[in-house]
Amino acid sequence: VFRSTLKSVPHTQNLLNKVKLPFGLVIHPFKDLSSLPVISAGTIVRCKRCRTYINPFVSFLQERKWRCNMCFTVNDTAEEFLHHPVTKTYGEPHTRPECTNSTIEFIAPQEYMLRPPQPAVYLFLMDVSHSAIETGYLQIVCDSLLDHLDHLPGDSRTRIGFLTYNGTVHFYRMSEGLSQPQMIIVSDIDDMFIPTPENLLVNLRESKSLVQDLLHQLPRIHTSDAEGEIDTYSALGAALEVAKKLIGASGGSGDGVPTIHPLHWPRGWLKVSWRTPMQGGWGKPPQAPSTQVRDYYKKLALDCSAQQVAIDFFFFNSHYIDIATLSCASRFSAGDLHYYPSLHVVHNPLEAERLSRDLERYLSRKIGFESVMRIRCTKGLAIHTFHGNFFVRSTDLLSLANINPDAGYAVNLSIEDPLTDMSAVCFQAALLYTTSKGERRIRVHTLCLPVAKTPADVFNNVDCVAVVTLLSKMAVDRSVTASISDAREAMMNAMVDPLKAYKETLPQGMTTAGVYVPKSLSLLPLFIQCLLKHRAFRLGVSTRLDDRVFAMISLKMQPATYAMYDIHPDLYRVDDLHEEGGLTVSGREIPQPNILPLTAESLSQSGVFLLDCGWRLYILVGRLTPQSDDSRDRHLVLSRLVQDRTESSMSTTEFLINLQQKLT
Ligand SMILES: [Zn+2]
Repeated sequence: VFRSTLKSVPHTQNLLNKVKLPFGLVIHPFKDLSSLPVISAGTIVRCKRCRTYINPFVSFLQERKWRCNMCFTVNDTAEEFLHHPVTKTYGEPHTRPECTNSTIEFIAPQEYMLRPPQPAVYLFLMDVSHSAIETGYLQIVCDSLLDHLDHLPGDSRTRIGFLTYNGTVHFYRMSEGLSQPQMIIVSDIDDMFIPTPENLLVNLRESKSLVQDLLHQLPRIHTSDAEGEIDTYSALGAALEVAKKLIGASGGSGDGVPTIHPLHWPRGWLKVSWRTPMQGGWGKPPQAPSTQVRDYYKKLALDCSAQQVAIDFFFFNSHYIDIATLSCASRFSAGDLHYYPSLHVVHNPLEAERLSRDLERYLSRKIGFESVMRIRCTKGLAIHTFHGNFFVRSTDLLSLANINPDAGYAVNLSIEDPLTDMSAVCFQAALLYTTSKGERRIRVHTLCLPVAKTPADVFNNVDCVAVVTLLSKMAVDRSVTASISDAREAMMNAMVDPLKAYKETLPQGMTTAGVYVPKSLSLLPLFIQCLLKHRAFRLGVSTRLDDRVFAMISLKMQPATYAMYDIHPDLYRVDDLHEEGGLTVSGREIPQPNILPLTAESLSQSGVFLLDCGWRLYILVGRLTPQSDDSRDRHLVLSRLVQDRTESSMSTTEFLINLQQKLT
């Protein structure tokens, strides 16, 4: 959930500079947890000075006092807190659930609500232009929605609505008393008026049969035959504006605004996105995305964020649509992004299948609304950069219109004041959100780490996975502000510099010309090599810009566990599984095959191999096996064998020789 790149925190910035390792936290704040203690307290105990939530790492002093582990203020312990809610014992506050769980959730009392918890509102925007319809995506999406309507997070107040757009925008009226939904086409997109807004976002429970009707009809209304003309432009911009207006319209006069959760499937050319922002004055599509267009999407996102609305995107384009610009709408509204390049039901069934599976997860996973996250750390430490999709409301407060269990965040840290007299430091991430059932809750994660005084202490306690995750996010920033070449160089330095520094800490005379790597960093060279060959940062291989941009966006918004599968998938041989060394889970034997190096030498013609990329699993069947198939998708596996040499990149052996040269 919460991990630091350095499991022993250097006591000074000087020591941190000396070891040359990145220092930061990677956080997966809303992760699906198998067990989560939830408590309902009348008052939630927090430090009177810095507002830290009481946690297992505070110290209880004499005379009913406790000392905050962030700012060291001494607080009084309330009488109420001395009673244990479960065991009913008295006078042992350190045994309470708040003081024994590093992750805990509070049901928040009234003072944590700015307004009554809002109902979940889902607004789906679907592209029905000719080129979008032709992919067959609409049927998949409507089928998924039909299958999962009952699993959409929410309560009896949940509202739902649909818009479609091509060159015009189409509304669907599902008011009570109608026997079937009515489609309304608005063709004047420059002066959009919303017909009867109250009938466009309807109560899901009351109007369920109309919603189901509509989902059955949509793929029949919008067929590639019926709309055979070539798309000249798309009214995506207008549709987004309307979605924003619908929020205001359905919420009355500004307050009591529902949480809207739009989905967009833009597909087509760049000009789709800038007709609305540049009303009237549109000539040729700009060569490079103008800052004006990007600013438009950012402003849209900030408007939405202010109204607790997140914008999620699903992209299905086969042409360049400038994901970098469109994604601004999600980044600043804490939305989510998905990408299925060249999806086509017939020509690319793998992507179609993936969309269907992802929608299943997307539509039924937990969701938190009206969320904010604050990260606190012990006095002396400072947060200076955030990574992920959010809007920074103040220095340590992130505004997240929505939070989902697949979203990851990270922060870079520095050491402002020496931690000389401390043996440990703490970090706390508090996520305040509204559940889909309309309950206000606070999920609190606290992490406590020892302080290191020597380089050896730091080097022996590095979390290599956290380091690589954080480095990948920093490299994306570097690619955007400088260039990909700069980012690649920075990643090389992030590997070479700490190893040089490590060698200097070894006793003189003990070292030879070889490469010395502390055990905790033994996988760093491999992971850096993987990053250099990753779609986001590779050079010398033709990479479509949208593919590269999406790879970067994914690295920025993924939690560490997902990012690592993306950076270094796990390869197993699965045709000779045996029980030796297996795990027993719920009475079942789960074999544990070895993870193989990502090289063609690991493969054989007679074997069956599994490549685990986290969100995707690939099975490669050897040509000499009875089940052999000559799938044209073999390259999907082969392209992930990063330890092999390619025309433009080194093999692992060459890479290590190169590293050795840099180190000596
Ligand atoms: Zn405090």
